[in-house]
Amino acid sequence: MDAHLARMLSSSRQCRCCGATFAQLLSLSCDRPDIVPGDLELQDNTAVFVTEGDVLTEDFCRFGTLRFLRAVLAIPLADLRGEEFILGTWAGVNEEVFNEYLDLFELRETESMGSRPAWLSNQIPPDSNGPLACMLHMRPDGQYPELQVSEVNHDLARMQELGLNLEELLTFLHAYGHDLASLVYDS
Ligand SMILES: [Zn+2]
Repeated sequence: MDAHLARMLSSSRQCRCCGATFAQLLSLSCDRPDIVPGDLELQDNTAVFVTEGDVLTEDFCRFGTLRFLRAVLAIPLADLRGEEFILGTWAGVNEEVFNEYLDLFELRETESMGSRPAWLSNQIPPDSNGPLACMLHMRPDGQYPELQVSEVNHDLARMQELGLNLEELLTFLHAYGHDLASLVYDS
């Protein structure tokens, strides 16, 4: 393991922008698909079953004719075996996949769906081009399904394949506005 990275992971230094430690920043999350405006209020999951029209919950979003599922996108850290950088994000899916997922969600049987085509519905990093073609792999025990980028020449696909080194990870976090100096260097 990279010694510098190991030190950062156990450090209690906090980001000046948000107060998070480096270890906490290894998971970032988007609260809604990029296309969904900030004034669509976040509700709990029951809302998706009892309402029609546009709705945003913890795990589901219906917006016009678009359908989204909460998902994660994991990028392994090359210098840190087993550790991953986890992005909480949204997968755009077709209505058939959305409805099937909803039917199986409460039974915790979404894993039986296997893998389905989906679109990454947040720009990662923030100023990249989207939406990006992915496969959405269902996982057991109520875990979020996991996105794997399908466009093999895309930067994000390469990162998923090879992992991020420390410098790339810091570039990534910086793109999200985190104050790296306050995390990386002793003040
Ligand atoms: Zn921050």
